[in-house]
Amino acid sequence: MISHSKKIMIHGMEADRSGLVAHPKRSLAGKFFTSLVPPSLDRTESSLRQQWKLSGSLKVLPMEKDNIILFEFEKKRDKKEVVKGGPWNVDGTILVLKKCSQDISMVDLDFSVACFKVKVIGLPKFNYTEDDVEKIAKKLSDKPLISYKYNEFTRLFCVRVEIDLKKPLPPGFYINGNGRGPPFVQFKYKNLGEFCEHCGMINHRICGEAAKMRPLTRKFKTRVYGPWLRCDHKVLACNGLPVKFYYSQPKPFVDMGLTYEETVTYAQFMVVVQVDLVYKSEQEWGGKKLVRSLLVSGDNDCFRFSCFPTQVIKDVLAFEIDRISPLAKLTSEDKTSIVLGLVAGLMKQRKTWSKKRWIPCKVRVEKTVMVPPVDMEVMLEEAKDKKLHKTIDINIVKMVGFPLGKSDDVLRKTIRDAIRGVGQTQFPDSYVESWVRLVKRPKYYSRLILEKDCHKCVKVLGPDMDMFGTCCICQEGFFLGDYATITSCSHVFHSSCITDWINKSTKCPLCRVQLEVYTLMI
Ligand SMILES: [Zn+2]
Ligand SMILES: [Zn+2]
Ligand SMILES: [Zn+2]
Repeated sequence: MISHSKKIMIHGMEADRSGLVAHPKRSLAGKFFTSLVPPSLDRTESSLRQQWKLSGSLKVLPMEKDNIILFEFEKKRDKKEVVKGGPWNVDGTILVLKKCSQDISMVDLDFSVACFKVKVIGLPKFNYTEDDVEKIAKKLSDKPLISYKYNEFTRLFCVRVEIDLKKPLPPGFYINGNGRGPPFVQFKYKNLGEFCEHCGMINHRICGEAAKMRPLTRKFKTRVYGPWLRCDHKVLACNGLPVKFYYSQPKPFVDMGLTYEETVTYAQFMVVVQVDLVYKSEQEWGGKKLVRSLLVSGDNDCFRFSCFPTQVIKDVLAFEIDRISPLAKLTSEDKTSIVLGLVAGLMKQRKTWSKKRWIPCKVRVEKTVMVPPVDMEVMLEEAKDKKLHKTIDINIVKMVGFPLGKSDDVLRKTIRDAIRGVGQTQFPDSYVESWVRLVKRPKYYSRLILEKDCHKCVKVLGPDMDMFGTCCICQEGFFLGDYATITSCSHVFHSSCITDWINKSTKCPLCRVQLEVYTLMI
């Protein structure tokens, strides 16, 4: 028994002289596609182990011929995941992996074709639908489409295709224009690694050729190849432009019919923070300058804190600012300047601290982010598209009203009219059908509501803020004027949090007791 397993082990260590692999089902043949010196075997092994996160063991075996490397996986599942997650690169150099077979020698495998996952960004929804996926894949490769994902509502395509590495990477394609210039649909590649930003080839870094250009608008040209071809290209991490900071003091809760301030036991601040991003691009061509910008308003977030001795305020603010989500994308310098701005704002109204118990303030933070003109064009098209779809969504919801009891044909007609009502005349049937399906889901026309006799809903007053502690659903505290629900099992949640919760599970998130609910048609 021992000698038998040992024999298999030795046999599995390498492909035989003819290049046939002993365990094709557990092996992949790999080769770097580069005209430069490929990474060393040690580096390859350590880098891939880190990237692959395998559950079983891995053998990395160099072949004598052609710089081919054999990867033998202990678990077939690991191999499957690696194939699905590709392409992979080691220090930027692409590693082409091929499935082995019992009959074909490794040296006969074609290592100049690799499977890529490509996101297609900037497609207008109504001109392209799921039926067009083959047409889009054709823009990437002559080879058949392997698989794709499509989301009807975000109209985002992600396609998996084999791409010929002997040619420059396809950067995207133009679609029919709308006056301003030809809109460009951008391809973004997953795990792309290094490529030549002049000619778009994958097998070398920057070459002597002039950078390839394409029209950006009627008057301007732009570079075709750059970091925007990567899926993980982050426009946010790019620059040290300072944040702009606006401090204001909103009216305290006037509409509540109760002087909430009086219910607070000690002076507290409530800071509402809104982060807006201004994307900006600058492009020069033929002595002219093209500047474009796009404002993307972020969500509000807020925190409260007590009136500490002045010197502590800075530290407390720094801690809170660091914690709140809309600020996560900002640099630490940005956050420091927000803290300093806030402290200066609060110090100005120091005199009122002693009189007031509850001090609300609002900060708007504006961060300018420079993006390449190529990304900007796509972002502008997308923003326009998003705006149109928001109007359409609102109109459909308004016109469909309560969908129960209406036939599919009636719904179809209503949805069509709603889309036409905002001036959109061309749209695919599949879009209308997905809306029909959506409005017929119970989630669309009904909600579960807590039985009022069993659970108590209260407006949060000063002393409650500390008594209630934190809401375990959202991990936030209870603010003055919030609505809180005390369930029949005596647990406290934000009313909005527990309402969302019971529509997923009708049990108390803390003690798993069945909560009393009823269905409300909306
Ligand atoms: Zn080149
Ligand atoms: Zn909550
Ligand atoms: Zn409970």
